[in-house]
Amino acid sequence: MIDPASLAFDIDGVFADTMSLFLDIAREDYHIYNVNYEDISCYILEECIDMDPDLIETILIRIMNGTHRPPLKPIAGATRVLTRIGRIHRPILFVTARPYGEPIYQWMQNILPLDGDSVEVVATGSFDAKIDVLANRDISYFVEDRLETCYPLFSSGVTPILFKQPWNRKRHPFMEVGTWKELESLIDF
Ligand SMILES: [Mg+2]
Repeated sequence: MIDPASLAFDIDGVFADTMSLFLDIAREDYHIYNVNYEDISCYILEECIDMDPDLIETILIRIMNGTHRPPLKPIAGATRVLTRIGRIHRPILFVTARPYGEPIYQWMQNILPLDGDSVEVVATGSFDAKIDVLANRDISYFVEDRLETCYPLFSSGVTPILFKQPWNRKRHPFMEVGTWKELESLIDF
């Protein structure tokens, strides 16, 4: 069982349903209807979906800045489980490769019924930099959806928990969960 104090989280693809937002923006603002969630079979979007790379970039920038009309939603069950964690441990640490954390921190404030100091968001700007942040925080477990990040995490002594997504369906040696309910069952409340 995992001590909540030793657990940290990625945000996009784990807490935030960022790829659904990506598709919502593509549909509503750019009238792209031929791409589905299950088509996102790799992390680098231009390599797996049929969409103009410049448009992919434009939408991703809007997501990072929080300048989009369709709302960003949490992944099913995430809010409930994080709220439960937040009642016994604070701050809950989130480490993201986003270049800046403020818009997503504000989003969390709106989503989670917890005090502002219940969450801490560290934005590293790179996948590799996540490792150093976690190593300096006594974190033993990290929930992540990018399979490539799990290998250096593991090498640095942090046990990755892969959150299943269409873009990480390759063979791997790590623990994985498909839902927040499943993740919840691993946590020592
Ligand atoms: Mg992610």
